[in-house]
Amino acid sequence: MKRVPIIAGNWKMNKTLDKAVEFVNVIKDQLPSPDQCRVMIAAQPLFLADMIRAAANSPLQIFAENCYYHDFGAFTGEVSPLSLADMGVDGTILGHSERRKIFHESDELINKKVLAALRNNLSPLLCCDETMGRKVAGNEVHWVVSRILTDLRDVPREDLSKITIAYEPSWAIGSGQSADPVQAEEGCYLIRQTIADMYDDEAAQQMSVLYGGSVNAENASKLMASEDIDGCLIGGNSLKPETFMQLVNS
Ligand code: PEP
Repeated sequence: MKRVPIIAGNWKMNKTLDKAVEFVNVIKDQLPSPDQCRVMIAAQPLFLADMIRAAANSPLQIFAENCYYHDFGAFTGEVSPLSLADMGVDGTILGHSERRKIFHESDELINKKVLAALRNNLSPLLCCDETMGRKVAGNEVHWVVSRILTDLRDVPREDLSKITIAYEPSWAIGSGQSADPVQAEEGCYLIRQTIADMYDDEAAQQMSVLYGGSVNAENASKLMASEDIDGCLIGGNSLKPETFMQLVNS
């Protein structure tokens, strides 16, 4: 089964509005067609409307970095999935390890967010992390599987095609120390097997699974050569248009 490669940038809380729009203007005419490679950038909510305008008529997909699970209400400071969809945002990262670690997001909360994104026709890019402590203790298998089981609870099979999952060991994020291709493949394979157990083999084969954590132009193609790694989620190296385009082209 042929899955289209994906390169996704996660800008986190970086850039200013003018730099965000400038980036889109620089890369939008250099992108491959979406059947060759899907390219997405996730940015702060304040930039999204202008980025969507700049990306119009290009294959670039614009993502949020997070959203809440209610569409409206007394939730001061939160971002509504309905408002994101209404604005023309394509999808949203959910469950990034920084959200889990710094903002104490649980799998139960992330599951509600996944369901809310799908209800609003936003594509979730669901992140599943793993800590070095767990890896050393040898219980990483249990950990990754249990995250996916909870994060995807009650997701109907027909909605799976809208979801992308990223395996991101938290020790590799922003550390300059990527997982090696064998470790990365292990995590992505495990996620695909969990989808097969929860749904069926066909659903597992159709699911796009990305690796994230210190990906750069040198290690990207080695990582993506692995059978179960369909693309990369990239933080630091997605910030400069030249470096990001090197990754897309690799
Ligand atoms: C991330 O934040 O999802 C990420 C993968 O960051 P970096 O590429 O900087 O490790």
